[in-house]
Amino acid sequence: MKADSERSASSFGGLDGKVAVVTGAASGIGESIARALAKAGAAVAIADRNWAGANAIADEIAEAGGKALAVMMDVTDEDAVNSAIDRVAATFGAIDILVSNAGIQIVSPIDQYAFADWKKIQAIYVDGAFLTTKAALKYMYQGDRGGAVIYIGSVYSHEASPLKSAYATASHGVLGFARAVAKEGAMHNVRAHVVCPGFVRTPLLDKQIPELAKASGLSDERVVKEMMLCDTVDGVFTTLDDIARTVLFLSSFSSAALTGQSVLVSHGWHMQ
Ligand code: NAD
Repeated sequence: MKADSERSASSFGGLDGKVAVVTGAASGIGESIARALAKAGAAVAIADRNWAGANAIADEIAEAGGKALAVMMDVTDEDAVNSAIDRVAATFGAIDILVSNAGIQIVSPIDQYAFADWKKIQAIYVDGAFLTTKAALKYMYQGDRGGAVIYIGSVYSHEASPLKSAYATASHGVLGFARAVAKEGAMHNVRAHVVCPGFVRTPLLDKQIPELAKASGLSDERVVKEMMLCDTVDGVFTTLDDIARTVLFLSSFSSAALTGQSVLVSHGWHMQ
């Protein structure tokens, strides 16, 4: 067994030799996480249903001297998930880190929420988390190699918002699933966490502002101030870098001292 000092020295190390898969990595938070993991030395799979976007990010990482592979993946499609994960493992030799990040948002009051949209949200977040995790655990469990599974949840993994019932439900579900992965994965050295961002300026958020404005009858400025940042300690958006650094920390922390946790990165919005 390693001495405590030896173990703690390696707990915060770089990610040289590690292999990461980031879903939804062709844009926004996932892209930023993928770039940060590659910079820390990991070989990174850019997994997205946006094939052109995934390729562009993978090319840019490779041009900057990193290791990256674009893989086509719709996280709701079991065969697509399994073949993409198998391809990453065949190319890079393992799967050590999975970041389940792919997502969409559909806002509407519950009494008008289309059932098809409800199912779309559950499929991406809940089924997507399950399918990608199951496929990655096959490799993490081999010889109890272990690894880290990080889910990008939300402050809405802990509370709710008007107009986002499907998303709050799915985000709460992901929290429960992450805790189950932490409990079952422990004997195979797998850790699991949920990172819960506050509002981050990405294409997904920029699309939401006018939609919320329309649904609530407020101006875009009032939506930002009164619906998005009102419960933060300082009225400031969370950044892409804030989330990427948190994922990096949780991915490189190598013992089960830290597992099954949910980390809110939200400028104090929803303290727990
Ligand atoms: P984004 O729209 O910039 O990126 C989302 C990515 O997911 C896109 O590249 C898209 O192609 C991909 N994607 C969507 N559906 C997919 C599917 N079925 N299979 C594979 N890829 C798919 O969004 P973002 O803001 O970066 O959001 C990333 C994650 O962070 C989401 O899960 C979102 O709910 C969560 N989040 C975002 C915010 C925010 O304020 N932006 C806050 C909290 C949580």
